[in-house]
Amino acid sequence: MKYIYIQPICEVGEELLRYLVSRLEGIFGYPCRIAVPIRIPEISYSADRDQYNAEVLVEKIMEEIPNDAEKLLGMVDVDLFVPGLNFVFGLAVGNTAIISLARLRSEKNEYVFRERALKEAIHELSHTFGFQHCPDIKCVMHFSNCLEDTDIKGTDFCRVCSAKVRRK
Ligand SMILES: [Zn+2]
Ligand SMILES: [Zn+2]
Repeated sequence: MKYIYIQPICEVGEELLRYLVSRLEGIFGYPCRIAVPIRIPEISYSADRDQYNAEVLVEKIMEEIPNDAEKLLGMVDVDLFVPGLNFVFGLAVGNTAIISLARLRSEKNEYVFRERALKEAIHELSHTFGFQHCPDIKCVMHFSNCLEDTDIKGTDFCRVCSAKVRRK
């Protein structure tokens, strides 16, 4: 049996984790497990930018990927960047991905925050399953350049992308 592992890095709310697990299992068809939280690898911190390098973080958590993991999704509450971009909501490399909650909070309500986190989790995990970016702004595979993009898109795949899901 293979699992999708969610790897909390530092403190990630238990309720949010459980919500993501319940939704992701239905979408990807793999049972999900929540790994024991780890500390953030300090090597990923950039003092110049006061942000964490998503590429370094993904590489670090990849080193510890469990044997029974189909995919690994790291979750952090710090701001992430990749060289060349001011920030990223997430990143996927091979079978491993990471998302940041740092920019997803909403003053309005907890529900908006939760759905944003879910969209980014689905988006990055889908990359690990081989999905590319989609031009449809409502599709979960649309690239989010800002929070508005995340709010416009849904948690679903567009028709073109869902046809690809079925073929897998
Ligand atoms: Zn993407
Ligand atoms: Zn699409």
